[in-house]
Amino acid sequence: MKRRGILFVISAPSGAGKSTICSSLRLTPDTVYSVSCTTRPPRPGEIDGEDYHFIDVDTFEKHIAEGDFLEYANVHGRYYGTLRQTIVDHLRDGIDVLVDIDVQGAANIRQCTDPFIQDSLADIFIMPPSLDELRYRLLKRGTETEEQIEHRLTTAASEMKCWRDYRYTIISGSMEEDLQKFRAITRAERYLSRRIVTLED
Ligand code: 5GP
Repeated sequence: MKRRGILFVISAPSGAGKSTICSSLRLTPDTVYSVSCTTRPPRPGEIDGEDYHFIDVDTFEKHIAEGDFLEYANVHGRYYGTLRQTIVDHLRDGIDVLVDIDVQGAANIRQCTDPFIQDSLADIFIMPPSLDELRYRLLKRGTETEEQIEHRLTTAASEMKCWRDYRYTIISGSMEEDLQKFRAITRAERYLSRRIVTLED
């Protein structure tokens, strides 16, 4: 008996604590983090090929034209996209893939008609406790200007309306609480009978 990989799609408004969850999961051997492509410039400390594949608009649009993306979206005025092939290869090998994408990207994956993707999917929304708390976390992070923070908060307010579309919602508390809730979800998903394949399948 063998298990098929799970496509964990995780969305949260910027600053809701998603990166903490994603980096904790990156450390486990049976889960990989899907590195997205983006046309936004790297932030200090970000590494090309690890945090994102930082590419120019022409290259991004070439990938779109060639149908390389499982999904892509324009977020905060920049392109972001998830390459299809690496994800599918990992899932077939029984490796779970964590995809950190915005609500448009998650909606695109939910609408994907490929039954393999649909069967693999487990989507999770991280809900910040409030917009004030989100503003505080973004200010503390200190990587955006005040104007960018206001823009992100406006986006956050509309993203927060989408929580019902997800199979799971985690109301964000402390980092440790969020991690525990997230691990509970990943454990349960891993034991779903329908994810097991046998030699007779
Ligand atoms: P940031 O620029 O702060 O790293 O990410 C901004 C937003 O883009 C976040 O909400 C993040 O989840 C989203 N994002 C990152 N990669 C992708 C992707 O491949 N596709 C989509 N649709 N959104 C993404």
